[in-house]
Amino acid sequence: MKKVYTHDKKRSFEVGKIVCVGRNYMDHIKELGHQAEEKPVLFLKPTSAMIYSGEKVIYPSFSSNLHHEIELVLLIGKKITDVSIEEASKAIFGFGIGLDMTLRDLQNQLKEKGNPWTISKCFDTSAVISDFILKEDYDLNFEEIISLKVNGKIRQKETLNKMMFKPDELVSYISSRMTLEEGDLIFTGTPSGVSNLNKGDKLEGEITNVAKIETEIV
Ligand code: MG
Repeated sequence: MKKVYTHDKKRSFEVGKIVCVGRNYMDHIKELGHQAEEKPVLFLKPTSAMIYSGEKVIYPSFSSNLHHEIELVLLIGKKITDVSIEEASKAIFGFGIGLDMTLRDLQNQLKEKGNPWTISKCFDTSAVISDFILKEDYDLNFEEIISLKVNGKIRQKETLNKMMFKPDELVSYISSRMTLEEGDLIFTGTPSGVSNLNKGDKLEGEITNVAKIETEIV
């Protein structure tokens, strides 16, 4: 069982599933040549893909286009099925930051054929996760800035209020399609600026007041 931790390491949560949201920032939708969706686009990552901030991302041998996607991550604190936006809000226990590492070449091939994206998103080390700040200690005001530097240069930077579907809305919708349980994580989508990485690249991400993350590609 993989666990996530609070900033002070005093509490931990066993991670059940990792639900990821696609196409949740307009500028990123445009950069990949897509259109906005009426409902959030969802996919899953296995917990075997998870590593912690400070650990290294292993560039898979079967891809030559590894992309970074920096994202706000939600920690679910209780079991919910098909709940209202108000109830969904109460089920969000904490906030962290994560990297949804993506094999863009494989994903594009799969999309063209109309096949699931799974193998472009599920590889070992493809979900890098920070510690979490509990909502009871800090709640988002959406003026927070999410950013990612690669080798010291800013590649992604956006305020959280540019999310098309906000956390409460996302969790309510996801709960209407699958039960969410304590310890589940929700990756909420990435802003624009995704790009190709090379072995040796060093990544540093941050959401102001929430969390930081770092990793290296090997
Ligand atoms: Mg993503």
